[in-house]
Amino acid sequence: MVTQNTEKIPHSVWYGWGDPARAKPLGAGGLEYLRTTLGLDSVEAVHPPVDFDDVRVGPVALGDEVLGELRGICGAPHVSTERAERILHAGGKSTPDLLRIRAGDAAQAPDAVLFPGSAEQVREVLEFCVRRRLAVVAFGGGTSVVGGVEPERGPFSGVIAVDLRRMDGLLHLDALSHTATFEAGIRGPAIEAALEPLGFTLGHFPQSHQQATLGGYVATRSAGQASTGYGRADDLVKSVHLETPAGPMDVGSPAPGSAAGPRLLDVVVGSEGTLGVITSATVRIHPLPAARSHGAWSFESFAAGAEALRRLRHEGVRGDMPHVCRLSDTDQTAATFRLGGPKTAAMARYLGLRGHKTPALALFLWEGPKRETAARRRRSARILRAAGGIRLGPLPARAWERGRFSGPYLRDELLTRGVYVETLETAASWTRLDATYTAVRGAILNALEARGGTGYVQAHISHVYPDGASLYFTFLGGLEPDGQAQNARVKKAASEAIVAAGATITHHHAVGTDHSPYLEAEIGALGIEVLRGIKATLDPSGIMNPGKLIPAPANATPSNATATKEQP
Ligand SMILES: Cc1cc2nc3c(=O)[nH]c(=O)nc-3n(C[C@H](O)[C@H](O)[C@H](O)COP(=O)(O)OP(=O)(O)OC[C@H]3O[C@@H](n4cnc5c(N)ncnc54)[C@H](O)[C@@H]3O)c2cc1C
Repeated sequence: MVTQNTEKIPHSVWYGWGDPARAKPLGAGGLEYLRTTLGLDSVEAVHPPVDFDDVRVGPVALGDEVLGELRGICGAPHVSTERAERILHAGGKSTPDLLRIRAGDAAQAPDAVLFPGSAEQVREVLEFCVRRRLAVVAFGGGTSVVGGVEPERGPFSGVIAVDLRRMDGLLHLDALSHTATFEAGIRGPAIEAALEPLGFTLGHFPQSHQQATLGGYVATRSAGQASTGYGRADDLVKSVHLETPAGPMDVGSPAPGSAAGPRLLDVVVGSEGTLGVITSATVRIHPLPAARSHGAWSFESFAAGAEALRRLRHEGVRGDMPHVCRLSDTDQTAATFRLGGPKTAAMARYLGLRGHKTPALALFLWEGPKRETAARRRRSARILRAAGGIRLGPLPARAWERGRFSGPYLRDELLTRGVYVETLETAASWTRLDATYTAVRGAILNALEARGGTGYVQAHISHVYPDGASLYFTFLGGLEPDGQAQNARVKKAASEAIVAAGATITHHHAVGTDHSPYLEAEIGALGIEVLRGIKATLDPSGIMNPGKLIPAPANATPSNATATKEQP
């Protein structure tokens, strides 16, 4: 079976997120919250992006002969040197990416953007780029928030973005084995649109779901909002077809389990475009749930809530864990209650009377067969109550679900209003979770306030494992005149606190350029050498995504973009 996705999904606007027509502007309550919480007297919309016509792009460094050969491989309509395409492929969607593009700087835009239509075309493109010494950036949805799609030339004469957009078909579905094979450029909504009529779901819903692609999920080991139940991208993927400069490679096994040596699939999953281009992937799929049950609980503190989640994971039946399992810290909970309208305000008053003066709100979503889902929720309730939880009914979890993809739009408006806003994430064992939360939160707050401004940090747990949980921080402050320096200062402080706490430098955003300097602290010098060895085998000339994931050796000449970054 081969189906082509025909759904029209808006590609992201050049200065921010998604389709601006879908953005809901901040209401009076939100603006007031910014004023009182952040002390920002002036949150007027006075920092709009520059006009599109004023965005600066460098000259195309590829001659007619090179472009002609690329057109011969992909077809003339699928090789673009148009200014608009180059700008759209000039970076990802982190706050520093947005600050740069909003200021009109797309100087690092790729020389050309290619839209190959098959694995064979990708193979020919890579062979050509090796011969002509051109760097290649595999581009999925371009939603990286760690510099993963920055077009770095490194020592090469040009850089090309290979956008997988045209490769978005469902190639095969095995309904008996619950697996499906897709081309790698298919986006989140199109995956679900292809599976739903056949009675299945992938169950992978990162906040970037509307823009991100399957190839991007696999290349970054992403985690969706329901990953506690369905598993993260690395759990969902079974096998991958990769085109490398050294040739094509299939990794993973059609068998359900295998002991045939080390799992080479794990080398490709998380490789962030540094080894080759993933052109298709086979993933585990799940029957569409017959029932979905929402729940919300309050705990008297973030630490008490985290302990309740640990007990749920350890004392409950394995299958009882909610698919979505989120716990907000007390600051995030206060914002949710304050901005949620009269019903949540009443909830906060009720909790105050029950002794939860500064509560931590947990949201759950159980999915599955009808009777089983209700039974899971009931069994979970016994554990959560015994852990000190107060049950709040389904409303807060339903409200979260309705708005769960709207956060990125808010960031665009906040930047326009002169508010610096960014997120980062980590994960730690249960033993280290609270200390990591305290250390990272403190480091971010200190760095935000280092120049005399005010800062605000909130956090939540969004993924629960047997041995620990993730921590996701969202932070705001007044945007300083040099927003890039402000961001580098905060990010450095947070990253150093994460490393010192013994947590991971990234739970799901991946490494890219931003986390590369901290990778050695996590995997060791020999681990870095192993990665370099694998890259030397699959990409001997080093054309694949220079400057990402694997730190350059100490004596190497810095590539164009990393040279300007603040290093630890
Ligand atoms: C608003 C927002 C919310 C987000 N929420 C989440 C979240 O909830 N969970 C989460 O895990 N992440 C999240 N992210 C991060 C990001 O969306 C994920 O990393 C996602 O998996 C990237 O997919 P993409 O298709 O956009 O990849 P891209 O951004 O295009 O690429 C990311 C990296 O993967 C490589 N790559 C992409 N496609 C291929 C391919 N076919 N072959 C080889 N390499 C490839 C690129 O070269 C790059 O290094 C969020 C980002 C934003 C902006």
